[in-house]
Amino acid sequence: MNQLLKDALQHIEEADAVVIGASNGLSIAAGIHLFADDNAFSDNFGDLALQQGFRCIIHGCFHAFPAEAEKWAFYSRMFAYFLHDRMPDPVMADLLTLVKNKHHFVVTSNIDAHFAAAGFDPERVFEIEGNCRNLQCANACHDQLYPGDELLATMAREQANGKVPAALIPVCPACGGKMQVHIETGPRFLKGAQWQARQTAYRDFVTQAQDGKILFMELGVGARNQLIKAPFMQQVYQQANARYITFNRGRELFIPDAIAHKSLGIEGDIGHNLKQLVSLM
Ligand SMILES: [Zn+2]
Repeated sequence: MNQLLKDALQHIEEADAVVIGASNGLSIAAGIHLFADDNAFSDNFGDLALQQGFRCIIHGCFHAFPAEAEKWAFYSRMFAYFLHDRMPDPVMADLLTLVKNKHHFVVTSNIDAHFAAAGFDPERVFEIEGNCRNLQCANACHDQLYPGDELLATMAREQANGKVPAALIPVCPACGGKMQVHIETGPRFLKGAQWQARQTAYRDFVTQAQDGKILFMELGVGARNQLIKAPFMQQVYQQANARYITFNRGRELFIPDAIAHKSLGIEGDIGHNLKQLVSLM
């Protein structure tokens, strides 16, 4: 394992550009499990879950709440749990340490906004499915994202009995309708100018880096993931100078034979392995 980590560090150091791809497994390594009915879920969402009948955070995101007061109680609580009540995360800090002096870009389906919170440049992060801190019109009547930090923190603080006060519930400044958090839970998720600008920045980064040594570094992305993993593997296959490192646990660690000679697979706890890598720097 130690040699594998040394090889991985050498790949990072030799790369002209690093593309980081991250999904649910990285959030889990940082202590957030969207799919688990665990102690953290009970501690942070237990009363809302009991009242509304959902059993994990992701179910809450797709839950049909009876009214806006209950909906915002959940989403503001989620914001506070992901960001506001959380200490700086050591897993994300280690990841940043590994790449901060490299030309890098992040693509992620995680909605917890932890890359920006950890100090990654938001201009170099493409959050494909949005994040927990921006708001949009729930009717998608206009293409604008609104920073929600202040309002969400207030709603998290001032909610009672599973409801936020009516005066705090946001309404769309254009149509007067409902608002929602900008995460992809349905067809009205805005993929407008701001979303597209980030997608373009990501594509441009990969295009401009492909003539040099480009490293695709993937963290906690499931073996059958089509959103991040499949495009990464295609790029590695097509580009002569590309390399690929994937971090995951057990059977989720997958490298196809066609790119095996350019690839390293690092199995086990992602947080532990990132810390080991930093200690080797
Ligand atoms: Zn609207």
